[in-house]
Order: sequence, then C-alpha cells, then structure tokens
Amino acid sequence: MNNKTIIIIGAGAAGLVAAITSARNGHKVALLEQNSKIGKKILVSGNGKCNIGNKNITTRRFHGQNPAFIEEVLSGYGFKVVEEFFGSIGLELIEGSDGKMFPMSMQASSVVELLEYEAKRLGVEIICDCIVTDIEKTKDTFTLETAHGIKKCQKLIIASGSPAAPQLGGSNSGYEFASVMGHSLVPSYPSLVQLCSDEKWVKSCTGVKVAGAAKLYTNNEYVTEQKGDLLFTDYGISGLAILDISREASSRLANFEYCELSLDLMPTFTKEQLMNLLLSRINSASEKPIELWLQGVMNKKLIPIILEQSKCKIKTEKELNRKEIGKLIYSIKNLKLSISDTKGFRGAEVATGGINTNEVNPQTMESKLVPNLYFAGEILDVDGDRGGFNFHFAWVSGIRAGKDI
Ligand SMILES: Cc1cc2nc3c(=O)[nH]c(=O)nc-3n(C[C@H](O)[C@H](O)[C@H](O)COP(=O)(O)OP(=O)(O)OC[C@H]3O[C@@H](n4cnc5c(N)ncnc54)[C@H](O)[C@@H]3O)c2cc1C
Repeated sequence: MNNKTIIIIGAGAAGLVAAITSARNGHKVALLEQNSKIGKKILVSGNGKCNIGNKNITTRRFHGQNPAFIEEVLSGYGFKVVEEFFGSIGLELIEGSDGKMFPMSMQASSVVELLEYEAKRLGVEIICDCIVTDIEKTKDTFTLETAHGIKKCQKLIIASGSPAAPQLGGSNSGYEFASVMGHSLVPSYPSLVQLCSDEKWVKSCTGVKVAGAAKLYTNNEYVTEQKGDLLFTDYGISGLAILDISREASSRLANFEYCELSLDLMPTFTKEQLMNLLLSRINSASEKPIELWLQGVMNKKLIPIILEQSKCKIKTEKELNRKEIGKLIYSIKNLKLSISDTKGFRGAEVATGGINTNEVNPQTMESKLVPNLYFAGEILDVDGDRGGFNFHFAWVSGIRAGKDI
C-alpha cells in the first residue's frame, strides 16, 4: 500500500468520518491508527453510551481563539448534517436531556462498529498498531515514517486528536507534525477535567455528592459559575459543575493564578428560604448538639467544614439565633475551596488549544500553508462544552475535509 492517494492519521471520530466521506467520493484511503483498536475515545464516551452530538448547535458552545473560523465551519453544518451522516451508515439517534443525542442502542460500540463496517465496505484500508513517527513533504508527496514502514501519499489528513486522555491514544504528535510543517500552535490545556485541592478537609468528604453550584474566582475576582453535581474526592473535587467550570480554571492555573471555588451546597434555596427553614427547625429548649441538628438538612461529612468556615461557636440547638444561623447559611452557600491544579490531560475529556485556525481554511480544512495537508477534529484550536459538542466538531470537520479532498 505504498502509494495511496489519501492517508489519514488517526482512526478516531474525525478520522473515521473523513475516511468514509473521502472514500464515498471515490478516493483510495488508508487510515493509520497507533492503537490496536479504532475509536477508543468513542467507545468510552458518555459512560459507554456516546453522547454523539447535540440538537442545539450554536457557536456559543465552542471555544477557540478564532471564533470566526468556528462560525464558518459550523455554518450549514448543524446537527442535521450529523444526523444524516449517521442515518447513512444505519445508526438511529435519540434525544436525551438538554438536546443531547445518543445512538438509539445507547451503546457507543454500535457507533464504532457501524463506522468501521462502512469504512471497510468502501474499501478504506484501516491499519492499527501503526504509529506515525515522522512526516516529510517533498514536492507533491508526503512521506510518513510509521510502525509499518514508510508510506507515501499525495494528500494527508491529520486527525490525530489532542493530548487529552493519553491512556486512550491522546497525543501531541499531530501538533509536532504540524509545527514542523510551519503551523503555529495555540497553547493546550486540559479541559472537562477534575480539579485538585491541597485543602485537607476535602479528603474527609470523599464520596459526598450534592446537587450544587460552583463559582470560580481567580486572584479574588469572579470569573464564571456553573450549576450541577459537586463530587468531593480524595484529591479535590469533580462532578458535572466542576467539569463545566474546568476550562476556565485550567488556563488560569497554568498561568499561576490563584484559583478558588465558592460552592453553594443548596442552590435551590435562596438565603431567605434557607433562613426561614432553619429558623423554623429551632427548638429553644433542645440540648441537641449543633452537628446533629444540621444533619437534618445536610450530609454529615460536610458539617464540620461548615461549622469551621462559618466560625460558628454554638454547641447546641437551643443557643441558635438568627445571627448564628446567618453565619451558617453564608458558609452553606459560599463554601470556599482553593484549587491547586487539575487532574491533567490524563483526567481530561478534551484539550483546549491546538493548531492555529487562522492557518486553516474553514470550508475545506485544508492548511493555508501546506497544499494538500488537511486537519480535522480536536487537533484544531476548537473545543466544545460537555453535551456532545466535541463530537459534533469532530464529525463536521471530518466531513468537510473528506468532501473537499
Ligand atoms: C472519557 C471521555 C469521554 C468523552 N465523552 C464525550 C461525549 O460523550 N461526547 C462528546 O462530544 N465528546 C466526548 N469526549 C470528547 C471526544 O471523545 C473527542 O473530542 C473526540 O474523540 C475527538 O475526536 P478526534 O478524532 O479529533 O480525536 P480522537 O478521537 O482522539 O482520535 C485521534 C486518534 O489518533 C490516533 N493517533 C494519535 N497520534 C497518532 C499517531 N502519531 N499515529 C497514529 N495514530 C495516532 C489516536 O490513537 C486516536 O485514536 C470524550 C472524551 C473522553 C476522553
């Protein structure tokens, strides 16, 4: 297979779709994958269910230094295009909450198996255990050094993803190939990732999960906030609200800014509602210890932390008054947790940054610097929110690259 017309590096989401689309246009395609299996990230995505996309595609849900590029890629390439593509390979989709789309089987493996079947049916040569270690371009030919020897092609799509989740194939290699060929890179940070804290108290709360909200402050200035699960862990904090806030925290931590979360453990109650609730529970004759009294409304592992942060000195229920309750409420709705780091690329679902999209044509995904070189997927400086947006970008950029080529 030494002279294929098109080689695609990476049999992940973008590479598989690019391979199918270009093979449908009559091209001979080889898909090189370093792992022993294709689509490893797809297989584990959405807890094995694969949140394949989202019905509500808006540019707001995507991030990168060049919003105009994102807008142009997505223009005319909304969810319908993804639905049609998967319909064409025989995969029906169903809607979950917030516009999230899943395969009807609720099995990520059906996504990979149907993609693989269609690629092979079209004659795409899929070569696993085939890491690409070097690329050189001379005149009209790309020469690739791979674990299966030298391979040459006239057109090359790099769909090798980002460094996120190296245990599943995440790698920097695409960045390196692109920069050797003259492309510049936007710095890459882990995103949709858990956050670490050096504060000792979090360990004592390991396993506690609350439907809460988190506000992020850096250098004591408010940055952003998210509602959702907060899960305390032995290293810090996770949960959906934390994953959603992590993009902002990650870049700031990388720039050595001080990051702190302010956690609202009862976001469905206003301060007044909480005050009324707690006041109504006071029995002024009761000797009940304050810790036990608070167990009536919250997880007991959190109580010593609330008492400490609120500086509440009260020992028993009968000593409680509006002022002391006010202190407790402040801490329940503003529990402070300093953040020291993220769980890194190993814990991350995606990476921010990547190939500078000013150097890529948003219609075709072709490099503006190197003719016949294309990029697709997370390797580009585009990342999305949780909810199927990252796959959306991988599919549509793969389709665009495969179509143009
Ligand atoms: C745990 C987890 C859960 C996720 N869940 C969701 C979800 O539910 N919904 C969603 O939208 N997004 C989800 N994501 C994000 C989504 O998986 C990625 O955004 C998407 O896979 C990116 O597609 P890609 O094709 O650009 O890269 P990838 O899917 O990472 O594919 C790149 C491929 O290139 C291969 N490769 C890299 N370097 C080389 C090389 N030098 N030679 C040969 N092969 C190479 C890699 O092994 C890999 O298979 C999740 C990610 C993770 C880690």
